[in-house]
Amino acid sequence: SSRTKIKALLESGKTDIDVTVKGWVRTFRNNQFIALNDGSTNNNLQIVVDFENTDPALLKRITTGAALSVSGKLVASLGKGQSVDVKATSIEILGDSDPEKYPLQPKKHSLEFLREIAHLRFRTNTFGAIFRVRNTLSFAIHTFFQERGFVYLHTPVITASDAEGAGETFHVTNFDLANPPKTETGEIDFKQDFFGRATNLTVSGQLEGELGAMALSDIYTFGPTFRAENSNTTRHLAEFWMIEPEMAFYDLKDNADLAEELLKYVIRYALDKNKDDIEFLSQRLLDEEKQKPQQDRSELNLLEKLQFCLDNNFERLTYTEAIEILKESTPNKKKKFQYLIEGWGTDLQSEHERYLVEKHFKKPVILTDYPKEIKSFYMRQNDDGKTVAAMDILFPGIGEIVGGSQREERLDKLEQRMDEIGIPKDELWWYLDTRRYGGCPHAGFGLGFERLVLFVTGMGNIRDVIPFPRFPKNAEF
Ligand code: ATP
Ligand code: MG
Ligand code: MG
Ligand code: MG
Repeated sequence: SSRTKIKALLESGKTDIDVTVKGWVRTFRNNQFIALNDGSTNNNLQIVVDFENTDPALLKRITTGAALSVSGKLVASLGKGQSVDVKATSIEILGDSDPEKYPLQPKKHSLEFLREIAHLRFRTNTFGAIFRVRNTLSFAIHTFFQERGFVYLHTPVITASDAEGAGETFHVTNFDLANPPKTETGEIDFKQDFFGRATNLTVSGQLEGELGAMALSDIYTFGPTFRAENSNTTRHLAEFWMIEPEMAFYDLKDNADLAEELLKYVIRYALDKNKDDIEFLSQRLLDEEKQKPQQDRSELNLLEKLQFCLDNNFERLTYTEAIEILKESTPNKKKKFQYLIEGWGTDLQSEHERYLVEKHFKKPVILTDYPKEIKSFYMRQNDDGKTVAAMDILFPGIGEIVGGSQREERLDKLEQRMDEIGIPKDELWWYLDTRRYGGCPHAGFGLGFERLVLFVTGMGNIRDVIPFPRFPKNAEF
């Protein structure tokens, strides 16, 4: 293509070369200086216009948001902080933009407003940085697994299995909505929704992933995942991306080691590759923090938080030990935690998770060995008869970022647990088969990709780290 990316020009700092750049106008000052952006970096390229020799009609069309092609010579920058400018010899308007109507005005817009114009928010510095970081993180994830010989296995989006046994699934229907199949009692028969079979959008690729691991040894999935989360939290989406590695011959410790290594690897990768974007996001947060009273401001800035996460071993402890810590925190008038005193066996709420991470240990935490009642049927039962070999990784500002376990490979134990919970064994005959023929110890986990992006970008709401968020009442585009 006959264009050079702005990031490359600014980084090389070379002058006296003829170039063509294309991008969108951020600002145009004094009929002379265009700040041009092409999405490769938040740093705009300054275009110096020879306004005396430029058609006034053309000058009028250089407005905020317009798409331009500019040819000219690279010169040492007139402005501070920038290496080079382009002295324009020709400017072509590729697309006009009415400055009165352009939704992105030269002022700070709220994130809520930008969510309503998700089609244009990519053009802001904040979202440019977020989506470049997101891109890097997804590449880093593949690189990490590929370097270690994992096979990227694509698991189905449409499936009849509901790994979590939860009710958070979206039905897939192909029947005529005007004339749906009916049950004997006259209700819509969802059991027939996919060519005569009940199916849903995947809530996790894990069960299928286990089948792959039972032959390929190390696999991972990385794909969209769907949960009908009918709530409005800042940590849940109805459509999110999940990374799910599954490893044969791994126990819970191997599993936790791999997860910690992965998280550190991808954070380091993003810090190397997108330093400028993360610095920008860090500064953005500092500006936000200045609005808060001193005591509410966080001690570390975003860059320091990420570095801290790299420099420290994640704290590892059991669920039972965590409950003891949370109980002890109660006398310090932390009323929130009181219900935990009532008993071992309750699931942690995100405020408990964040208390452990942010106040108690002040670093990421890996919690293991949860009560079996609050975890899924496929997790390996511990000898105490009460807990399973589960692990959750908890991150500052996020809470749960990873959920995983060693899987139950013993057919008798697995069947007994399925019976207890009431999961029909005949529907999962294929899953049980892997235990019948060479079943072996294995483990895996699910990493919520958007929660990772949240952590690395320091953003506060998960809707702001996915290009087109899906949440109740939001599915137009
Ligand atoms: P939570 O307790 O936060 O609802 P979960 O325990 O239901 O999460 P898992 O089934 O363990 O989630 O899924 C694995 C990972 O996927 C989680 O650790 C989290 O990072 C991510 N995740 C789960 N649900 C969502 C969601 N609705 N939106 C975005 N990410 C999610
Ligand atoms: Mg959940
Ligand atoms: Mg959970
Ligand atoms: Mg979980």
